[in-house]
Amino acid sequence: MRAGVVGGGWAGIAAAVGLADAGHDVTVFEMAPQLGGRARSVAGEPDYDNGQHILIGAYRDSLALMRRLGVDPDAVLKRLPLALPYPDEPGLCLPPGPPLVAFARGVLAHRSWPLSARLGLLIAAGGWLARGFRCDARLSVAELCTGLPAAVRRDLVEPLCVAALNTPAPQASARVFLRVLKDALFSGAGSADLLLPRRPLSELLAAPATTWLGERLRTGHRVQRLEAGWRVDGEAFDAVVLASTSVEAARLTAAVAPAWSATAQALAFQPIVTIYLHSPGSALPSPMVALREGPQAPAQFVFDHGQLGGAPGRFAFVVSGAAPWVERGGCAEAVLAQALREFRWSAPPIIDRTLTEKRATFACTPGLARPVAHIAPGLWAAGDYVDGPYPATLEGAVRAGLAAAQGAAADVADAATGDKGAKGAASGSPTKTP
Ligand SMILES: Cc1cc2nc3c(=O)[nH]c(=O)nc-3n(C[C@H](O)[C@H](O)[C@H](O)COP(=O)(O)OP(=O)(O)OC[C@H]3O[C@@H](n4cnc5c(N)ncnc54)[C@H](O)[C@@H]3O)c2cc1C
Repeated sequence: MRAGVVGGGWAGIAAAVGLADAGHDVTVFEMAPQLGGRARSVAGEPDYDNGQHILIGAYRDSLALMRRLGVDPDAVLKRLPLALPYPDEPGLCLPPGPPLVAFARGVLAHRSWPLSARLGLLIAAGGWLARGFRCDARLSVAELCTGLPAAVRRDLVEPLCVAALNTPAPQASARVFLRVLKDALFSGAGSADLLLPRRPLSELLAAPATTWLGERLRTGHRVQRLEAGWRVDGEAFDAVVLASTSVEAARLTAAVAPAWSATAQALAFQPIVTIYLHSPGSALPSPMVALREGPQAPAQFVFDHGQLGGAPGRFAFVVSGAAPWVERGGCAEAVLAQALREFRWSAPPIIDRTLTEKRATFACTPGLARPVAHIAPGLWAAGDYVDGPYPATLEGAVRAGLAAAQGAAADVADAATGDKGAKGAASGSPTKTP
């Protein structure tokens, strides 16, 4: 079949590779000059990433896609056991071994927490495990964790929540948070490991995908119109995967699937601000250090690029769930002051670059209605915002891309055998991401 993919972020790349691998004729439309979407590098001396990204061992499909494109994850990512060291204490660190045992051992060994706090966390985690990591969809992370000791909420729950869901704990979905915990902490060995890029982000997927897709790629083409049938800017396709941002997908579907378009249009967003500081000769105690957020302390994490094979003396401070800071301004200066308070520097750090992604991810709130993947027969959505168990992440985007590729191919096969509409034909039908 002829398939059109609109958008070349990680979801669009996954969809295009999935379709091409299944023997279909694919065309990818990407409005930017390059692939990668939000997870790309931007030109600099040397290149910057469009915000610090972290992968974890549980990102099974992203790692498989990298391998499919000839990238060795072990070469481009630094694998570290999950650890949340703070500038003044070692923090939680999971030892190697089976996930449940490693979690229990890591928590019990966390001497900065009183024993009652450690036991409180283990009892709560046991309860989540017993309930299959499920909870009421209307619950926030703060509500889920009210019974936990304050130190556990401050040092573990709040930083993990804002890092994974890009939404502060009082506004974040407990159901999605529990799913992330389940997959990261309690699935196979190594799933909780941190995988930190040691090459520019574009080298992880976008650049190899550009070579791999070759002639199938049309960069610099912003799709203006989608017509039922399906036609992309007048060009006919048997199936289309919309792998653009939700805002663009909503615009393109306004006429052909208004109910779906309205759901996509209704998503709210959370910003992420990344502040790159430069301080020649300085180094952090570890490649990634957690920071205590506060009224004058915006950043929750900092990454030392010198220890990650990148530019020595470059430090990426990450402010997730950054809406209040974007509104109030002065984020970079506050981060610089936070950095000066928290660490000893060989040379006074200076602000090298501030990247503000206002729509970094959708706000992952309790009970949120996310747009379904199957828009109409032959029309699928792929992207980190599409309905599924994950928050907006690279892995969520890749899985949505692969699912859309399979769904689109199945639709066309069904249509060819006269089984039209068997998969839920109405626009905005409640079909879930497989
Ligand atoms: C600062 C920052 C830090 C992050 N950190 C992490 C992290 O640590 N770990 C993690 O897992 N995730 C992280 N994320 C989230 C992650 O980047 C996204 O979930 C993922 O990149 C989304 O991929 P996507 O393909 O769904 O969307 P996008 O990357 O947004 O791709 C959509 C593509 O569609 C194109 N497009 C849009 N409209 C059109 C059109 N009309 N015609 C043609 N092309 C179009 C766009 O140019 C873009 O390339 C972070 C995001 C940001 C911004």
